[in-house]
Amino acid sequence: MAEEPGVGIPSRAERKASEKAKILQRESERNIFKLVGRVLKKPEDERTEEEAAILLLHRDTVDEHCKRQVRRNVLKRKQEEVFDDADELKNKVRQLAVAVKQANHLVVYTGAGISTAASIPDYRGPNGVWTQLQKGRTVSSSDLSKAKPTLTHMCIRMLHKQNMVKHVVSQNCDGLHLRSGLPRNALSELHGNMFIEVCTFCSPVKEYVRLFDVTERTTLHRHGTGRRCDHCGSELRDTIVHFGERGTLEQPLNWKGAAEAAKMADVILCLGSSLKVLKKYACLWCMNRPVGKRPKLYIVNLQWTPKDDLAVLKIHGKCDDVMSLLMKELNFQIPVYDRMEDPIYSLATPLRPEEVNSHTREVIAPPDGRLDCSINPGGQAEEAPAVEGGWFGRGYSKGRKKKKKTA
Ligand SMILES: [Zn+2]
Repeated sequence: MAEEPGVGIPSRAERKASEKAKILQRESERNIFKLVGRVLKKPEDERTEEEAAILLLHRDTVDEHCKRQVRRNVLKRKQEEVFDDADELKNKVRQLAVAVKQANHLVVYTGAGISTAASIPDYRGPNGVWTQLQKGRTVSSSDLSKAKPTLTHMCIRMLHKQNMVKHVVSQNCDGLHLRSGLPRNALSELHGNMFIEVCTFCSPVKEYVRLFDVTERTTLHRHGTGRRCDHCGSELRDTIVHFGERGTLEQPLNWKGAAEAAKMADVILCLGSSLKVLKKYACLWCMNRPVGKRPKLYIVNLQWTPKDDLAVLKIHGKCDDVMSLLMKELNFQIPVYDRMEDPIYSLATPLRPEEVNSHTREVIAPPDGRLDCSINPGGQAEEAPAVEGGWFGRGYSKGRKKKKKTA
């Protein structure tokens, strides 16, 4: 197999020439691509003869431009918010009500869309955190502590009380399901809860519920909150699961509860989630079962989701609108959030005196409605700082960068 020296092996000069030719070729292709793009942008009757000839000569490039345009249009359509008109919405909710009544084991999956009415921005909507951060804007932290459970949170809590909803799986970190009064064992907060810090050195893990966002100093792979465990003195950590991390904490994530619920589910109702993240958790969808044996899927979301084609029914409406119509159909009164019944106040562990200044986030307003400044070291409610660290600031943008690299 030995070749004669010099035969088949290009010299240095030849290699250089060939590299240069490749570079020139690529540059010429790029120029043609740009030129064709410019011509295509012109209305057909305004193109010169020479320009028309260019298009004829470079048919492949024209095709590539068209393909890209189609892809862009599809992407744009997927991001658009669609609203069913009033009659269609009513009709669809009627179908949903039947499914809710007939379900043996109804499980609800929720995303940021159920919290937007609580002024917590969603991620990917036109005004979402993701979109805002991408445009270089900041997101204020003051809304987060002022937020309270929405009509949707309260309706889900009520449906659970009526034994119609068996379990809730949420990707939200805003703690609003917990604050609506939903029992812990009926809830899986897959990406954590911004009000909970834990000591993982204690066994069993010791949990500290707080009345403020505990995540201001934490970020991807850095979860220490700076406060210490009363029991063993170790540093506490937040419970947030960022992009690229695997959540292993038993609570509040409660993966066991989520997996068991999915196994039992005959109907799954997805509310206000793009499902882009949830779809990756295989155990939530029972995809290993034959098509006819999978849970029936009902989706309420304004934008496209990757599960739309598998859904029995897709409802394009705001979650609060859909849920209030659903309550009417089911003949239930719409429950109202009452601060006095918010379990977070009884669950919360007060800070030790030396830790009172360990955070600058606003404390959620106490049940009697008065704001006590001594427990609110952040103070200036009017000029709340922009969210930087924590459960969606930096962690999120890191996830985004990583995604870009692999794309
Ligand atoms: Zn401890």
